[in-house]
Amino acid sequence: MRKLIAAAALALLACASAGAEEAKPRTVAIQAGRLVDVINQRVLTDQTIVIEGDRIVSVSPTAATTLPAGTPTIDLSGKTVLPGFVDTHVHLTTDPTISFLDSYHITPARAAVIGAMNARRTLLAGFTVARNLSSEAYADVALRDGVERGDIMGPRIFAAGGMISMTGGHGDDNHLAPQYRYSSEDVVDGPDAARQAVRRHVKFGADLIKFATTGGVFSANTSPGTSHFTLEEARAIVEEAHNLGRTVTAHAHGAGGIKMAIRAGVDSVEHASLIDAEGIRMARAAGTILSMDIYNTDYTQAEGRKNGVPEVNIQKDKDIGDIQRENFRRALRAGVRLSFGTDAGVYPHGDNARQFAIYVRYGMTPMQAIVSATQTGAQLLKREDDFGAIAPGRFADIVAVDGDPLADITRLERMAFVMKGGQVYRGTDAQCAAAPSAWACEAPQR
Ligand SMILES: [Zn+2]
Repeated sequence: MRKLIAAAALALLACASAGAEEAKPRTVAIQAGRLVDVINQRVLTDQTIVIEGDRIVSVSPTAATTLPAGTPTIDLSGKTVLPGFVDTHVHLTTDPTISFLDSYHITPARAAVIGAMNARRTLLAGFTVARNLSSEAYADVALRDGVERGDIMGPRIFAAGGMISMTGGHGDDNHLAPQYRYSSEDVVDGPDAARQAVRRHVKFGADLIKFATTGGVFSANTSPGTSHFTLEEARAIVEEAHNLGRTVTAHAHGAGGIKMAIRAGVDSVEHASLIDAEGIRMARAAGTILSMDIYNTDYTQAEGRKNGVPEVNIQKDKDIGDIQRENFRRALRAGVRLSFGTDAGVYPHGDNARQFAIYVRYGMTPMQAIVSATQTGAQLLKREDDFGAIAPGRFADIVAVDGDPLADITRLERMAFVMKGGQVYRGTDAQCAAAPSAWACEAPQR
């Protein structure tokens, strides 16, 4: 198989060189002063990364690296260089500063425009991959395709489409009185309807499936602690998604809903706020990844009222915020795999890296926090060959900051340099000129 691929690649290369000289992939080198090797969890010094086109071809000590004459070189010798980050829980089409009432005037088309703005902010904050967990009318699929085609600027997006939930569940629009008669197609009851919802999402381009096995913080008449769906319905969703080659994640706060989701075979659980000792053991045994958003409560408690979030929802957030953080600590101690999911959209996009400091405050070493936002995210998306580390063969998704983030994790909140797929989106003029993207390059954040 490998031989076949190599032969095909050679044939392609031959075609390319026979065609036009400029079709040859661009080669560029990065000189990294300090390089965070997340695979071996160590920091290397004075490394040179060689990039061809959108992929990394080699990483080696600068002293032992000979570059062809004239290779453009990006000087990051005074910086700490890391793999681009993966946020496993965002809502690009949501803006928390749009008031609760105004949000009822947002069409899916308007939401997609908001998403384009937030995709740019996410990328410039060093997040080169984002797993978008629910949007209406496949706006997230449109954003993903828009980024891929170069229509808009953004991270690599993995889109879930709408969140599947039961009648009265977290994804149902429970704020509306019955005479308004609106219900999303993603609200389903019974295993057959649940299966059909998964098939529809795959038909319209979803990369993964999200469903809600408990109530939530921002929905009306749901309690985060109560379980939603039956095990039979949950199994139908997971089985159908896996049959179609998609991963599945469950929105779940309550201990019962978390355990039901794990029993049903989900790949990950979002929030996991009220997980109990048994749930932690089950997640560890099954290898289920928890994507715990423990920063955003700071934002909701500080700004929620100003943004028009109803009092009942602010209270729900407060009730589970501290418990969720302590449970993060317990899950970490027990050796559960934790990916870096922030629920951006509940707080402003672009502030994703603020969660690093909270992960460290609640028990992670800075290296563990960085691994959660790189390797673990790539593992959850089953794309370890493509991103999650700075290594040969992977996309050149590379970021850099001033100083030492392993000593002061908040350094990651100020990006000095952002490259995605071998193109620079943030950096100095010289860095941007060495490997320009189609977009205006942003200056380093101070
Ligand atoms: Zn969310």
